[in-house]
Amino acid sequence: MKFGGSTFSSIEFSGRSSLVLFFVGCPLNCPYCHNPELVSGNSNNDETDIEEVFKIIDESKDYLDAVVFSGGEPLYQLNALEELLNYSKNLGLETKLDTSGIYPKKLKKILHLIDYIALDIKAPFDKYKEISGCNFGEKVKESMDLINEYNENNKIDENNENKNNENKNNENENNGNSQRTIFLECRTTYSSYFLSKEDIYRIAKEIRCDLYTIQQFRSKVNLDDRLEGLNSPSPFELKEMALEINSIFENNLNNNPNFKNISIKSAEFGNQKIIKDSEILND
Ligand code: SF4
Repeated sequence: MKFGGSTFSSIEFSGRSSLVLFFVGCPLNCPYCHNPELVSGNSNNDETDIEEVFKIIDESKDYLDAVVFSGGEPLYQLNALEELLNYSKNLGLETKLDTSGIYPKKLKKILHLIDYIALDIKAPFDKYKEISGCNFGEKVKESMDLINEYNENNKIDENNENKNNENKNNENENNGNSQRTIFLECRTTYSSYFLSKEDIYRIAKEIRCDLYTIQQFRSKVNLDDRLEGLNSPSPFELKEMALEINSIFENNLNNNPNFKNISIKSAEFGNQKIIKDSEILND
């Protein structure tokens, strides 16, 4: 497989101790991509035997809660991803996938192996071409719908399972095959150079997930050199947008059928969750 290395993180998976594995290769060319060395996948130096990656997981498994699959686009190498997901699950570890969502069919094959998905929403779905240069909006929406549908089906299964169990006076205990849902985070990288605030508000109305995160664009390392040195939006600007989204849903995200939590992510303050009107909570 084409492998771009690994790192440890306590913030990539909600405070869990995680091993992050970087997959090389991505068909997109987002100008603001901050892992440009992982995008092209042209170098033979990246070729790694998957057994080597198993070894990296084995060496740290005693200190880990989870493995995060990031990139690049991990679904670009579906077979390797599936093998590593299975390997991690067999060790009892939780799994997270970072994806652009452009491969819904591939995603469908491995949903049962994933606990958490961070899905990039680069623009309102009908503005993908205009903003990201690629006409993938429909594919990304398909991926999002697929995950939500999977969760809905599993919730229904859980309910039916409970009813069945009641009817059978708990004779059967689900045979160890308990159903579970996937935590879905949708996230957008914001800069006024390629998105307007109205675009962010439109995205907030179009998505359906557990958590929406507005991320700060950083101009330090980008795929497109022309972005170098551009100003990053301030954390306060991100907070203002998050609060505006909150007010769109009458200052109560519980009125929002699309997602219950919103957070902002900046280099200055890390992850911050909007908990009420104007309060924020550091992760
Ligand atoms: S930001 Fe993600 S989807 Fe875009 S080029 Fe980089 S790795 Fe690919």
